[in-house]
Amino acid sequence: MDQSCQKEKSTKVLEIENLVKEYLVKVSLVSKEPFRAVDRVSLKIPSGDTVGLVGESGCGKSTLAKCILNLTRVNSGKVIYDGEEIQNLSDSEFLPYREKMQMVFQSPLYSFNPMMKVGQALMDPLRMIRHLNHREREEMVEYYLNLVGLDPTEFVSKYPNEMSGGQLQRVGVARALAVEPEFVFLDEPTSALDMSIRGQIVNLLLELQEKQSVSYIFVSHDLRVVRYIANRVFVMYLGEIVESGSKEDVFERPLHPYSRGLLTATFLGSKRRTDKKIEIKGEVVQETNVGCKLYNRCSYAKDRCKEEKQELKDVEGGRLVRCWRALEI
Ligand code: SF4
Repeated sequence: MDQSCQKEKSTKVLEIENLVKEYLVKVSLVSKEPFRAVDRVSLKIPSGDTVGLVGESGCGKSTLAKCILNLTRVNSGKVIYDGEEIQNLSDSEFLPYREKMQMVFQSPLYSFNPMMKVGQALMDPLRMIRHLNHREREEMVEYYLNLVGLDPTEFVSKYPNEMSGGQLQRVGVARALAVEPEFVFLDEPTSALDMSIRGQIVNLLLELQEKQSVSYIFVSHDLRVVRYIANRVFVMYLGEIVESGSKEDVFERPLHPYSRGLLTATFLGSKRRTDKKIEIKGEVVQETNVGCKLYNRCSYAKDRCKEEKQELKDVEGGRLVRCWRALEI
């Protein structure tokens, strides 16, 4: 029985406008300074679309997820779903959206109640969100565990700490999909999986998207998976989007030095660029007094980069880049 295609296709759009999220970080024994984890991020995801979000650890991807899913309060900007502003709603106001918007967490162990068996962890949202009776819930748990390649007879009675990271990651995907969401933020959903299972999960996500028009933000530092699943790609560095475009543009002709460095690092450079590989030097450092946040790591930096704040500019037909030297480079 195909249980996943009973729902009508969604036509809803998720829009994020100029979103800012700051945390206060301790800089000395007595003082704290704001750290901008998400810096004026805007993006739009029509139903049935997949946006890929790439960047190094700590670039703000997970914080962006929390802002979208109302797991933290934003400082400014908007999250608009189906025409309604949903940022900073109270828990009860957000409840109807919680049913439609799901998240697969990067660290699955922390997203499960350690005292609850896997079967129960999947049953509870099916009762609360899809209002299924006990028998229907059992069938659905069996169906979704099979779908992610886990044997229900073996896994329904296991506790999270009795499972490997990869198995738990698959349960996380099953839990998010079982409630038939309209949007899912997938934060490194395949990082703990071996290659064959990874392909199986990615294909499952695509199949479901085809049937239900569910939209995804797919975060991964495995750029090969992003290239396979996403239609549009956003590259993030220190809270800012530094480049966005179709996956063909970003993967085949990256314009921002940081995007090009990421691609060089993962051996995805096209033949055209093999003579001009770009390395990003050193570690991510949050500098408050430089114009371009990549200034200290960029091989192309000039004095102007240090002094002038870089804005995201449309350089060619919807291709956005935050670097005044991008086309010249
Ligand atoms: S603005 Fe300057 S420092 Fe920043 S990415 Fe472009 S060339 Fe590099």
